[in-house]
Amino acid sequence: MAKFVYDFSEGNGSMRELLGGKGANLAEMSNLGMPVPQGFTVTTEACTQYYNDGRTIAPEIEAEIMEHLAKLEEKTGKQFGSTTNPLLVSVRSGARASMPGMMDTILNLGLNDVAVEGFAAKTGNPRFAYDSYRRFIQMFSDVVMELSKKRFEEIIDDLKDKKGVKQDVELAADDMKELVVRFKEFYKNEKGEDFPQDPKVQLMEAVKAVFRSWDNPRANVYRRMNEIPYDWGTAVNVQSMVFGNSGNNSGTGVAFTRNPATGEKALFGEYLINAQGEDVVAGVRTPSPISKLQEEMPGVYDQFADIATRLEQHYKDMQDMEFTIEDGKLYMLQTRNGKRTAAAALKVAVDLVDEGMIDEKEAVCRVEPKQLDALLHPTFDAEALKKAAVVGKGLAASPGAACGRVVFTAEEAKEWAARGEKVVLVRLETSPEDIEGMQVSQGILTVRGGMTSHAAVVARGMGTCCVSGCGDIVVDYAAKQFTLAGKAYKEGDWISLDGSTGNIYGEAVATVPADPGSGYFGRLMGWADKYRQLGVYTNADTPRDAKQAVAFGAQGIGLVRTEHMFFEGDRIKAVREMIVAENTEERKKALAKLLPYQQGDFEGIYEVMGERPVVIRYLDPPLHEFLPTKAEDIAELAADMGITAERLTEVVASLHEVNPMMGFRGCRLAVAYPEIAEMQTTAVINAAINVTKKGQYTIKPEIMIPLTTDVKEMKYVKEVVVSTADRIIAESGIDLKYEVGTMIEDPRAALLAGEIATEAEFFSFGTNDLTQLTFGFSRDDAGKFLGYYYDKKIYESDPFAHLDQNGVGKLVEMAVKAGKATRPEMHMGICGEHGGDPTSVEFCHKVGLTYVSCSPFRVPIARLAAAQAAIKNPR
Ligand code: PEP
Ligand code: MG
Repeated sequence: MAKFVYDFSEGNGSMRELLGGKGANLAEMSNLGMPVPQGFTVTTEACTQYYNDGRTIAPEIEAEIMEHLAKLEEKTGKQFGSTTNPLLVSVRSGARASMPGMMDTILNLGLNDVAVEGFAAKTGNPRFAYDSYRRFIQMFSDVVMELSKKRFEEIIDDLKDKKGVKQDVELAADDMKELVVRFKEFYKNEKGEDFPQDPKVQLMEAVKAVFRSWDNPRANVYRRMNEIPYDWGTAVNVQSMVFGNSGNNSGTGVAFTRNPATGEKALFGEYLINAQGEDVVAGVRTPSPISKLQEEMPGVYDQFADIATRLEQHYKDMQDMEFTIEDGKLYMLQTRNGKRTAAAALKVAVDLVDEGMIDEKEAVCRVEPKQLDALLHPTFDAEALKKAAVVGKGLAASPGAACGRVVFTAEEAKEWAARGEKVVLVRLETSPEDIEGMQVSQGILTVRGGMTSHAAVVARGMGTCCVSGCGDIVVDYAAKQFTLAGKAYKEGDWISLDGSTGNIYGEAVATVPADPGSGYFGRLMGWADKYRQLGVYTNADTPRDAKQAVAFGAQGIGLVRTEHMFFEGDRIKAVREMIVAENTEERKKALAKLLPYQQGDFEGIYEVMGERPVVIRYLDPPLHEFLPTKAEDIAELAADMGITAERLTEVVASLHEVNPMMGFRGCRLAVAYPEIAEMQTTAVINAAINVTKKGQYTIKPEIMIPLTTDVKEMKYVKEVVVSTADRIIAESGIDLKYEVGTMIEDPRAALLAGEIATEAEFFSFGTNDLTQLTFGFSRDDAGKFLGYYYDKKIYESDPFAHLDQNGVGKLVEMAVKAGKATRPEMHMGICGEHGGDPTSVEFCHKVGLTYVSCSPFRVPIARLAAAQAAIKNPR
């Protein structure tokens, strides 16, 4: 028979999945002989059962809870509802992964009209007893019955007015009694029934409420952010109460074994005399630093310090502990591995190795890869941030803090920047035309677009802060202003963005630059590189990005998106001429103008990367992206190009597609206009020859064909590449090697990967397109409805951010196997956005990819994630 309830003495620290983190650690501390108030844990499986049973607790589980309650009464010598020595308990949530503050807690459960008298008699303190009772009614009503806390506060304020006092502490025992009466009256009015007097009923209702809180909105958001599966459920811990608020020989506090902000090795924390846990959190009174306890209660301090040291040595990690002192006696209420800043995480991990507590591999696994981000981007000055008000929120699309003046176009951005001003570019959405403006901006804010929108992808690539998809903003380009939360912001006004939270501030908030070069960072990343098996490359389109990525440890470039350079300087003119060309001759003429630019760009990248692999992807986006859409812009451009507005309007109309992402793009462009692929091949091969001829490096180009769907298509484009490349190489007189491979980003390519590998010499999984085409929804628009899918638990996370391993992942796995069956030595990587996402990186390791490629600022994250994947799943 399944067991759903465990006494603390029955569990242990390895039972996290079943007992939750808090339950497992309470059991472990009991086993270690530490002073833990007695209690029991209702398991996470009981929570799952509760949901499976339509949000009810099965009679067997209730019976088991009652059995353990009886045992608890026996052990403590206290009884529920006793008139002389009543048992009071706390009821707290505790999931497998800690979710601080996300779920509910109830204290002082067991109090009723009778027990409160017993409690008053036992403590000799009626005020304390009635204060505890009124707090319980308030908490129970809020958490279990969803009656707003505020209404109770109003009742308290009303009584204080009547008594002519200002502070709660000035209320006497009789006042507390009166509060209890009034609270119960209010409860009855609202609920149509009396406040439950049977402690067993109170207990079962509280357990249900904790189970229910697993599904509250803030818990759901937290889980999605931290990739905690919904089906884990939470455990519930029922523990006999100890009272830190029973006099001046009592108190309560929270402490860490090391400083969670800096990692410094010293007991760090605070406590309050004569208080309950919630008083510390509420911040009404200022707590004292833990060191002061040494003076105030030396015996208790020594005992606590000793326990802290033992716990850290036991768990071999920094601990975050809650304790209560009741009449001079210390009780441990909780211990867990402490949350810490990125800087502290690095220092603690490295120090624990130096102290001989853990080995290098363990240290590598101790740092959350995503946390490294904080060390690579500017952040807000902590003091300045405290004073700033959030005026809106969008998606946290690209991390970092930005502060600058509002501009609405790339042109304005460049003008302000040229005058030495910092700017934030505000757009409905961005397009490739905005690149130069984006490059000079501190931050980018868009009204539309999700995590893989143009703005998000490009900003991450540049390491620029971006908040995307803030639908509350109304932009009026003509008036050069936007409104948000009722306030208008004009060109030149200051705003600030937090790309790590999505917060928008309507004012200037000071920032401080990143400092990633610390010694701890270097040592830990050195260990990560030693243990990882995946290569880590970067997606970079310019020498500048490439340099940045190499500084962050990139071993190659997995994706150069050639079109990202088409907007720089004069290139766009030639690109547009190519698009409006009426025949092959004209198109070739335009391409000839583009050739020297492309070749120069590639030479620049090869110079930075040396002999590291560089995968250059050929032209991919639909051509309409390079032309304007508005009549006045078309007219202006036509005049510039020396053609009629009618002619240009015709071209724009002819390029219009209903679903451009599924339209005339990718290698379809090369099939229709092979001269484009010829020009790009000429640029790549000439660049490689030129750099090789300088003598320092031997370059081996890797040419990548996008959006392939069929081996014949691949063969056709490859022949264009090979015939062009071989001719140039023969003329050059040097023996240049090169490879031609393809992206696997169309489901059909994944299905036919074995055949495609007869032509393709390497694969790179373009999981952005592969995700959109497998799901059949667009990466630019999915943000509009994915929210409904999260709310309804149909999807747990954004498939464009975390690879859908079940579906899209299956295609990847299949293609890897089929490709290797055809061509065992072929190298395979991933260059979709997932290449920098830790759980997706682990998947890539498991399916045997050669490398992952991600934006420069995610390179350290991918290095660490790859190391953790290798340590957890040895190949
Ligand atoms: C992809 O589709 O995953 C990819 C890397 O190509 P892009 O994002 O340029 O379409
Ligand atoms: Mg793609």
